[in-house]
Amino acid sequence: MRVNLLLACTVCKRRNYATCKNKKTTTGRLELMKYCPWDKKHTLHRESK
Ligand SMILES: [Zn+2]
Repeated sequence: MRVNLLLACTVCKRRNYATCKNKKTTTGRLELMKYCPWDKKHTLHRESK
């Protein structure tokens, strides 16, 4: 089952990306290096609701 979620930048706390994950294969919190247009660099983005 896939669930929709938002990825929030850990630097500026803004929610920049919408994505989805597979609950069966992805356990725990999703963490990705993504480009943040506000910080103008790649930052760690964490799953948030
Ligand atoms: Zn940011």
